[in-house]
Amino acid sequence: MLINKRSYPALSRLEALRHRTELSDNEMLQLKQLTDQKLLEDHFESLMPPSLHQTVDMIWHYTYADYHHDIQLNVILIEADTVHLLKLNDYRGLHTINQQGMLTEFFTRKVKDDLAQLMSIKLGIDYLLDRRLNIDMRCVCLGSDFELDIHSSRQQILTIHDLADYFKGMTAPTEDLAAYLTSAPEPVTPARLHIQNGLRCPHCNQLSEFTQHHHLILCQKCRQISTLDQAFIDAAREYLSLYPDSRLTKGIMYKWCNKKIPATKVASLLKKHFSAAGKTKGTYYLLENVPL
Ligand SMILES: [Zn+2]
Repeated sequence: MLINKRSYPALSRLEALRHRTELSDNEMLQLKQLTDQKLLEDHFESLMPPSLHQTVDMIWHYTYADYHHDIQLNVILIEADTVHLLKLNDYRGLHTINQQGMLTEFFTRKVKDDLAQLMSIKLGIDYLLDRRLNIDMRCVCLGSDFELDIHSSRQQILTIHDLADYFKGMTAPTEDLAAYLTSAPEPVTPARLHIQNGLRCPHCNQLSEFTQHHHLILCQKCRQISTLDQAFIDAAREYLSLYPDSRLTKGIMYKWCNKKIPATKVASLLKKHFSAAGKTKGTYYLLENVPL
């Protein structure tokens, strides 16, 4: 059962901000890290047998806060008598386990701290669960040319070639442990002063001017055609990801779309794609009836 699904709210926010304002170097770095993380997790999920989703309990994006910092795990799988802590990477080439037990690049001797982070989470979870289950921690190396030298212990490493066997034989958990494993909250992106309004093109992702013909729009930047509905839904989602405390109303969306869509059309798009809440002048819209 999927306890915590994969979602990337911080990535969507930064992606939206990137087109609407200037990002700091730190935010650009974060955007790159989150984009890489999503690709890695897409890859890992594509390697999981579909039946596994029904069998084990799956918690994506678990953040463990110890005294000093937050440590992130990509995914936790809970089966019959074992909790599997998995931290993914795309390290390439030959590696070894050094004398301190750390994963290390063979030639450069550059130490990766994945195993130390896993150990820290393992100790924490062991305590939280009162040592009821075995805890298996693995550094999952998805790089197709990743290799571990033959003298190193493979006990805490999984390569892309080991995964099928690792998943095989996992059986359903007998206890509901999800309540013990609630993640630390995600940090909030700081508020911004200058965020540009406007619709983004579903093809080139840029904030753009459009020529509209019935329900179709033509992007002036990439000359591709999209439906107004799609661009509008994307814009509404972006608005809520950037202003999570705000309410989606007709007036707000009219301004957010740079007053380029007639107010009556904005009202009908909101009615068509979102469910209404509140009454008459206080009406606002919820994203819930939009298919993902
Ligand atoms: Zn475009």
